[in-house]
Amino acid sequence: MKSLLRLLSLAVLCGLFASFSAAAELRLATFAVDASPKIGAPLAYVPTKEITWPLSCRGVVLLGAEKPIVLCAVDWLGIGNDANRLFRQKLAAATGTTSDRVTVHTLHQHDAPRCDLGAAALLAKYDAEKPHYDVPFLNDVIDRAADAAAVAIKQASPVTSMAIGTAEVHDVASNRRMLDAAGKVAITRYTACADPKIRALPTGVIDPVLRLVTFYDGDQPLAVITTYATHPQSYYRTGGANPDFPGMARDARQKATGVFHLHFNGAGGNIGAGKFNDGSHENRQTLTDKVADGMRRAWESQEKTPLPAAGVAWNSVKVQLPAASHLDGERLAAEVASDKTPAALRVHSADKLSYYNSLKAGEKINIGCLSLADTRILFLPGELFVEYQLAAQQMRPDLNVMMAAYGDYGPFYIGTRIAFWQGGYETSEGATNVSPDAEQVLTAAMAQLLEVPDTKVRPNDFTDTTGPGLP
Ligand SMILES: [Zn+2]
Repeated sequence: MKSLLRLLSLAVLCGLFASFSAAAELRLATFAVDASPKIGAPLAYVPTKEITWPLSCRGVVLLGAEKPIVLCAVDWLGIGNDANRLFRQKLAAATGTTSDRVTVHTLHQHDAPRCDLGAAALLAKYDAEKPHYDVPFLNDVIDRAADAAAVAIKQASPVTSMAIGTAEVHDVASNRRMLDAAGKVAITRYTACADPKIRALPTGVIDPVLRLVTFYDGDQPLAVITTYATHPQSYYRTGGANPDFPGMARDARQKATGVFHLHFNGAGGNIGAGKFNDGSHENRQTLTDKVADGMRRAWESQEKTPLPAAGVAWNSVKVQLPAASHLDGERLAAEVASDKTPAALRVHSADKLSYYNSLKAGEKINIGCLSLADTRILFLPGELFVEYQLAAQQMRPDLNVMMAAYGDYGPFYIGTRIAFWQGGYETSEGATNVSPDAEQVLTAAMAQLLEVPDTKVRPNDFTDTTGPGLP
């Protein structure tokens, strides 16, 4: 009897220990699938003629810190509205988590597909979706990514430590919004800029820092995450699908290190390579080399710290970004319905109507924050201005704050409050779906996630208002 009791108590103890260690073990899995379209299928602006460099959909799953956390980035223009929600739901179902713990972003390349299944459905009513959306292909990538994630978590590796690194990237990012002496946008310096006089204008407000996190099992690096804020275009509308310079830099680094590399575009809505890019084809590789060199220096600057599961947390808040006053559902619906509407405007109106419909249906955008010891990675929507990233860092200067933007693409550009007054392309009717009040909503969300609810920091305060006084 006594020995039976001892056996039983031993079994209970073992059971307890097993469940304790299972709960405490942090593990990581990675997945990747090809996201290149078929030849002839639509890229964002032109049909696919060739796959110049394969597009990728890839992600990391963290297990052992409550329910799984999934971070995913795709080499596409944008994944908006119901397509972003569906993508997250499918990844959540595949990994046994909830979709508020899944984030899906794009790197915003332009020789790459766009993905808004709601917009595609609006166009399909008039048999007009095929030049813009290959719906079976988009669903197939989402399903293959979910399947790959489900397989990957069965072979997850233990995580024992993490490392962070940073490096300034030189001569890539530049502000696109060139102000006159009154502080209004006089010139938009687009991502490729042939005019040397415009290239010579100041760099403007940017965040030059590329930030890196590596997960380790002992001495073995398992996966790298990097963030850097810029539009990714060197040149486009070629018909050659490619991940452009940030994706090429990521792929080069993955090849050089042999370590899975997940790159996110930071808040690069008002940032592009324009000052350093005349649009010449050879400059794509030059920009790639500059970003890859920044990734290498960040990699070499790494400092390792232990990472127990207790040091990992995921928090999220749901927001509605208020609609721009110009967002007129009836007018957009009429533009979508008419076959007289030029094709480029028709898909644009369908994308905008998809955001309008999402808002009207009460759908919310999920803003996530991954805590890894003293690092926070914020996951934000849209073509977010760099000032949001600078404000997030300023809210918590005691922490290493990273930002991935270009999550839900529904809002399009998200400026700071003053940027709407300043004018320019990004805050124009065609380019943004949100009102100046979006800043307050996102500021409150970031402050909540960074645990500084009474912060005085405002993205608006980082916006340049003086201007260089243009020639
Ligand atoms: Zn853009």
